[in-house]
Amino acid sequence: MGAEIHQKLSPGDVTGILVSEGQKVRLTTLSGSQVVDTWAFVAPDFEEYLSMAHTRTALYSTRFQKGDALVSNYFSPLLVFSEDTTDGFHDSLHAACSASSYTFFGDAEQYPNCEDNLQKTLRGYGIPYRVTPPPWNLFEKSFVSEDGLIRDEPTSALAGDYVELRASQDLLLIFSACRSTIGNIQNGEPSGVEISVRDK
Ligand SMILES: [Zn+2]
Repeated sequence: MGAEIHQKLSPGDVTGILVSEGQKVRLTTLSGSQVVDTWAFVAPDFEEYLSMAHTRTALYSTRFQKGDALVSNYFSPLLVFSEDTTDGFHDSLHAACSASSYTFFGDAEQYPNCEDNLQKTLRGYGIPYRVTPPPWNLFEKSFVSEDGLIRDEPTSALAGDYVELRASQDLLLIFSACRSTIGNIQNGEPSGVEISVRDK
């Protein structure tokens, strides 16, 4: 049965992958230092998308765990979070990095940024999206403290850690290997990620 798609993203790279219901996508950190902004859009018309707000509402959690079903903006199950070898931190709270976010925080912009990566990929598929849904930021360590503030820490993912997502519908998945080092989220310089897609 082997991997049908296998590719490596360097920091700043993006990929869009069409997957069928039941297919599994595995993302493996090369050295542990790589946050991956993740989006999903429902084929064939792509109007429905993976929503962090709806998934937090459905699961009553800000931190999704192995076995959870992630849902769309219509509360329809899109992905099962089927495997996770990390200690379980994957940010659902932060917006994608963008030209405006780097300006807002007064940091030097990292080119290419994840918002531009998403928009470029959507245009490549002929999808006219003007907004950027907040992504699920795999391997990014954030949490909400008792005072309500969001805290960031360097990713605790280790070399070879992986997550696996099983498609519950036919989807366009988009992954952007983030270059942002704001808050040292990458635990140093980002180092890339391997992506493989397998059948059921
Ligand atoms: Zn980014």
